[in-house]
Amino acid sequence: MDAIRTPAIDYDTCLGPNPDVPVYGKLSRRELLKFCAGIAATMGLSSAAGVRMAEAAISPDRPPVIWLHGQECTGCTESLLRSYHPTIEALLLDVISLDYHDTLCVGAGKQALDYKHAMMEKHKGKYVLVTEGGTPMKDGGIYCKVGGKTQAELVREGAAGAAAVIAIGSCASWGGIQSADPNPTGAVGTHEVIPGKLVINVPGCPPSPYNFLSTVLYLLTFKRPPALDQLNRPKFAYGRLIHENCERRPHFDAGRFALEFGDEGHRQGFCLYKIGCKGPETFANCPAIGFGDVGFGSWPVGTGHPCFGCTEKATAFRKPLHALATVKTLTPPTAFPQVDAAKGQGVSIGAAATVGVVGGLVVGAGAMLLKQMSDKPKATDAPNKGA
Ligand code: SF4
Repeated sequence: MDAIRTPAIDYDTCLGPNPDVPVYGKLSRRELLKFCAGIAATMGLSSAAGVRMAEAAISPDRPPVIWLHGQECTGCTESLLRSYHPTIEALLLDVISLDYHDTLCVGAGKQALDYKHAMMEKHKGKYVLVTEGGTPMKDGGIYCKVGGKTQAELVREGAAGAAAVIAIGSCASWGGIQSADPNPTGAVGTHEVIPGKLVINVPGCPPSPYNFLSTVLYLLTFKRPPALDQLNRPKFAYGRLIHENCERRPHFDAGRFALEFGDEGHRQGFCLYKIGCKGPETFANCPAIGFGDVGFGSWPVGTGHPCFGCTEKATAFRKPLHALATVKTLTPPTAFPQVDAAKGQGVSIGAAATVGVVGGLVVGAGAMLLKQMSDKPKATDAPNKGA
């Protein structure tokens, strides 16, 4: 295949050379174009934008990425390591130039830190700083230190020469699990450490690696951040409620709920709202793109666990798992449930209408929808009538 970049392996990164690491692969031109076209489509951009992204990714002038770790479990990096289309080695060397990563670094100690400083100096004003993990601020920030410096100092140092800053994961976005009450270390998100500097938040526990890669590729290509919401999250990934695209949504609209783990409703794949699903108040594209590259249904709700709202600052690690979500909108479903599906599990249609509505107009719309669904279908009814 015609390689777009010859594998003259650029070991000028902290990730090599290492005799124990197999020789890195490379993306063919076709694979890179396909990947970037997919990324562009995810962001609602044209295929021409995908071509521009591919060109930006192979440009020798593409800015490197410097990746710091704070208070967290390394799950966001694990999520990136589990990407297979393309594989991590292709991502590191052919798509984004990940020049320094606290965890994946082959070197250690002073050697690694010296390398990081050299990269930050060499690419001053051009590199993308990625922060993973929260930053403790209590007691002078002593609860997370690397090389004798607090995480707060490291973030400020890295951000000073960065062209852009991305906070990956819920911990870097707003403190994460360590910031849960009573927040013993005073953990905060990156944007609170460097006020005045734009921090693009890509929250999730973990976030989809493709949301992160899409954001980096957009920055490389268009030299500006993608459209952001009020929490500085890219709208292409966090613009819609999970509840709007959930595959269990027809059960919500029809009033079919799991009432406890393992009950008949749970076994039948009914809606998880009654056991604490936060999908109705959580903005993310999890149901659309899934996790782990294994296809449709590979996300928490798809596997039977309620969404816990990890992409929402006010929900994750703050609202109890069993608490009911606030239903923000009652939008028409994209598909009606089968009218002859099993009923009698969970709450009644009337109760579903009560929990599923948020205002007078919506009450009416919701009641009409639920009534429609409970009516016997006429022989002439199309299965998706009104959808
Ligand atoms: Fe899906 Fe949760 Fe909404 Fe039910 S409440 S439809 S499980 S997102």
